[in-house]
Amino acid sequence: MKFTQPRLPYAPDALVPVISQTTIEYHYGKHEKAYIDTLNSLIEGTPFADMELEEIIRKSDGKLFNNASQAWNHIFYFFQFHPEGKREPSGALKDALTEQFGSVEDFKKKFEEAGATLFGSGWVWLSRDDKGKLFITQGSNASNPMTENLQPLLVFDVWEHAYYLDYQNRRAEYLKKLWDIVDWSVIENRYEE
Ligand code: MN
Repeated sequence: MKFTQPRLPYAPDALVPVISQTTIEYHYGKHEKAYIDTLNSLIEGTPFADMELEEIIRKSDGKLFNNASQAWNHIFYFFQFHPEGKREPSGALKDALTEQFGSVEDFKKKFEEAGATLFGSGWVWLSRDDKGKLFITQGSNASNPMTENLQPLLVFDVWEHAYYLDYQNRRAEYLKKLWDIVDWSVIENRYEE
């Protein structure tokens, strides 16, 4: 088995009341595990078995792309949260957010809006290009901005499985609450990589 599921850096009930233990157990424990298991079975005995996950995402399509990208996206999503994280951005990332979106609060509003208006299942992303310019993008299904030469920094999952157990149809409320658990030190490290 080439790819394994990394252990989360917090307890399954640590993000309550924003994300419940049940959602962590289903969303990370079952949905994400299924993407990784399917990815492993699809690449076995193929040239993809020798590639890093990012390379598979860039070079695959169809079912393999969907499972590889979903495997990557969920790790990226769950590892940006922490119950004792840094709650506001600072430094170069804060400067870039302020310059491009007006303020950190304005950025959050635009990001929530992009997540709330995405039709169907998908992801809302903050990414940067190679010059440091920031982009908010909506992506359907398993999409990932790295296929468009952007470096992902922050992502909110807007598939119903991400919020339905805790918020039912209230996607906008779920998006707003996620800011309470984002660890901006993780996002800053991604930005400065
Ligand atoms: Mn998901």
